[in-house]
Amino acid sequence: MRMPIVDVGAKELSYEIREIVDIAKFIEKKTNKRIIWENIGDPIAKGEKLPDWIKEIIAELVRENKSYAYCPTKGLEETREFLADLNNRRGGVQITKEDIIFFNGLGDAISKIYSLLKRQVRVINPSPSYSTHSSAEGSHAGCPPLTYYLDPYNNWFPDIDDLEKRIRYNPSICGILIINPDNPTGAVYPKKILDSIVDIANEYGLFIICDEIYCNLVYNGRKPCFLSEVVDDVPAISLKGISKELPWPGARCGWIEVYNADKDEEFKKYINSIYRAKLIEVCSTTLPQMAIPRIMGDKRYKKYLEERNKFFESRSNLAYKKLKNINNIVVNKAYGSFYMTVVFEKEGNGIKIENKEVEEYINKFIKNSTNDKKFVYQLLASTGICVVPLTSFCTKLNGFRVTLLERDDEVFKYTFENLAEKIDEFLNK
Ligand code: PLP
Repeated sequence: MRMPIVDVGAKELSYEIREIVDIAKFIEKKTNKRIIWENIGDPIAKGEKLPDWIKEIIAELVRENKSYAYCPTKGLEETREFLADLNNRRGGVQITKEDIIFFNGLGDAISKIYSLLKRQVRVINPSPSYSTHSSAEGSHAGCPPLTYYLDPYNNWFPDIDDLEKRIRYNPSICGILIINPDNPTGAVYPKKILDSIVDIANEYGLFIICDEIYCNLVYNGRKPCFLSEVVDDVPAISLKGISKELPWPGARCGWIEVYNADKDEEFKKYINSIYRAKLIEVCSTTLPQMAIPRIMGDKRYKKYLEERNKFFESRSNLAYKKLKNINNIVVNKAYGSFYMTVVFEKEGNGIKIENKEVEEYINKFIKNSTNDKKFVYQLLASTGICVVPLTSFCTKLNGFRVTLLERDDEVFKYTFENLAEKIDEFLNK
């Protein structure tokens, strides 16, 4: 090349959640161990089945010619009207269909949201953070993401003082990212926490991005508090989608709801640039958008969500029971989404691996890596359980993320019994 062509931001792009797959496949081949894929939050891949009534709605749409067409750039009018109405009935900030833009999954929205900011402008991410956000933010800025601390010793709630200080001393921060319910921690934030973040945004003239893709996956006695209910006049974007809620991740369908665009000229211009980026792509997937009002507006939907939440509640409690008494870890019960995160309080030594060829193979990857990556790869080699190192979620804390998605009771039991045993071997033997 006549000059370097790769942007400095490229090195911030990593996604351990999928990068581990090739290693797991090698181990599967060499050991004949069945891999238990705990690395990715795909309910369908973990054995969940959409109920027949939802499949029938989708089947009917497949027969409608319109579902094969492009749709308006922002998304289908009737679907955006339905979603605006859903928001407005909750109270809080009111929106119209014009405040909603559809994307090909939130992955698409996230990449546009950060890449269309001025390079010097930063959005502070939680730490740990869902890596699609932190990678996209770091890549846009051309340097590592800026973060605030989620406290494992306080239900994984944001440390509000830490957040405020970081914002006070860094004028390049113009936005705050909240993920609620959270991936990877399973935390659900009470109104008080959200109010405090809104107050900080107000005080420093910031906007808020709130990823609410798990907003209807809340259990264990908590109730969701939506950003729209507390946002007041702060300019904000809420991200929602159907990947986790229906669940239909393969539909690649998510949307943003924009709050208070008219309250700040600069923010309005920014939102318009996001819309224009979608405009040059024409539009997002049509058929899933057609399905949304028919499914979410169906009288069976509420009960369906309740049943799913009951399932995750029971998984969350079982998982917590299996891990809570192990020494030298911090583990919190999940209250929302379908993840749970374990933090190691000390360096671990290692897990014994029987197959020498596999041991040598993984040693190449873990040689100079973090202690939690060592745990994850050794766990994979010795049990076939594939979790994700916590350090890949933009944090210095060591540990791992596991899901609560497994539908097969026996496999779920095997997973958490083996996790308990191997954590203990790694840290305490
Ligand atoms: N936001 C969060 C917090 C997620 O956990 C995920 C996927 O795991 C996404 C967004 C991506 O969603 P989508 O499938 O709509 O791209």
